[in-house]
Amino acid sequence: MTEQANTYWQNILAYIKDRIHPQSFATWFNQSKGIELKDDVLLVEMPTNFHIDWITMHYSKILEEALNSLNGASLRLSFKAANQEVNRPVVKKKRIILSNDGTKLQERYTFENFVVGKNNELAHAAALAVAEAPGEAYNPLFLYGGVGLGKTHLMQAIGNFIHKQHKNLNVYYTQAENIMNELIDAIQKKDQLSFKKKYRNKDILLLDDIQFIYGKERLQDEIFHTFDYLYTQGKQIVLTSDRPPKELSTLEERLTSRFQGGLVVDIQPPDLETRIAILQKKAELENVKLPNNVAYYIASRVKSNIRELEGCLIRLLAISSLSGQEINEALAEEALRDLLGNGYKVSKEKIIQVICNEFGCSPEDLKGARRTQRIALGRQTAMYLLRNYLNLSLSEIGAFLGGKDHSTVIHAIEKIDQLKKSDFEFSRLLERISAKINC
Ligand code: ADP
Ligand code: MG
Repeated sequence: MTEQANTYWQNILAYIKDRIHPQSFATWFNQSKGIELKDDVLLVEMPTNFHIDWITMHYSKILEEALNSLNGASLRLSFKAANQEVNRPVVKKKRIILSNDGTKLQERYTFENFVVGKNNELAHAAALAVAEAPGEAYNPLFLYGGVGLGKTHLMQAIGNFIHKQHKNLNVYYTQAENIMNELIDAIQKKDQLSFKKKYRNKDILLLDDIQFIYGKERLQDEIFHTFDYLYTQGKQIVLTSDRPPKELSTLEERLTSRFQGGLVVDIQPPDLETRIAILQKKAELENVKLPNNVAYYIASRVKSNIRELEGCLIRLLAISSLSGQEINEALAEEALRDLLGNGYKVSKEKIIQVICNEFGCSPEDLKGARRTQRIALGRQTAMYLLRNYLNLSLSEIGAFLGGKDHSTVIHAIEKIDQLKKSDFEFSRLLERISAKINC
């Protein structure tokens, strides 16, 4: 049993190892092992609870992918810390990963744990109104904003709130990617009926990250009918997206024309005060005292993404707890250095190398004049990323890529910008490339 558990885990690790930075892999996964497999739950031992926190916060998605790729459709993961005494609850259930049938709401995503600032006060107020009067306040509620700014948190806070108040209501949270896969499946099996049945008995439908259905008109059409049905029954629908709804074409038109009571509200990146307040809140939840100057130190350096902000804090707490050092600015600097990768700068060569890997070509191809579609696109992507990451001038970019003139570079950048918006697969590719450049 143990052996089988560890074999499973080693397979999952092999998948992850190929996809994250070796340093990160060594820090967070090297000392883990699969120790038990029971009722489709794979219990994994990690050195400390901080490892578990870190991994669930940062690597859930990739773990999920790994499970999927290993055909472990029904397998779930649970973690325990090695230093935990045996007679304490052995399984520390953090996040239940992988459930195609609606993902469980995370307990910590509540309104109480959500810090309100100027950047999100409208979204927060709207979410609260929906939670207090589901189906009546704003329907559907559409939250949009950049990555890591609290969309999922707010959406699940609505779910948690309603679930607590009305145990009888059927609250259903899922990623739009899941619903999309189910729908594709249903269409292939010519069994749209069970899809319809499944979604039509929900009271509260929370559909996260619907950018997955951008550009997919047929699916939008089907999903619209489900929304329409729920809406006329007075059921609440909440949607999130990292892009504004106007890029949703079919659905957007209908959402605005059909659902008069709907509300679209965005979340902006938080300002410095809000970032400090968020750090203090997280520290409070972890039962640690975070000195103000340290909160300020972190918040003034990590600006755009709250997930990263949290990451820094957790890393800091991990270092402090593992080394027994007190939490101060020097230690914060160390935590940030690891995370933000000072000394691990993005270089022109790094960008080129990642692009070559993705497009299956060589740096010489990119710098040369060949114009097969694949190479041309790789070259244009390189121009775009050199500009975005390193802010090189157009002529520097042209020169670096084998002496292209600056109008070619402008054209490339515009084209990629356009493609990013119009072509979902391409935007995913770009995300993947960026992730590799960043790590
Ligand atoms: P998104 O879905 O927009 O990508 P998430 O909701 O997953 O972002 O948020 C990323 C992390 O940041 C989560 O751990 C969440 O709890 C935290 N977070 C985001 N906004 C806030 C906030 N205003 N107050 C407290 N935590 C926040
Ligand atoms: Mg999210």
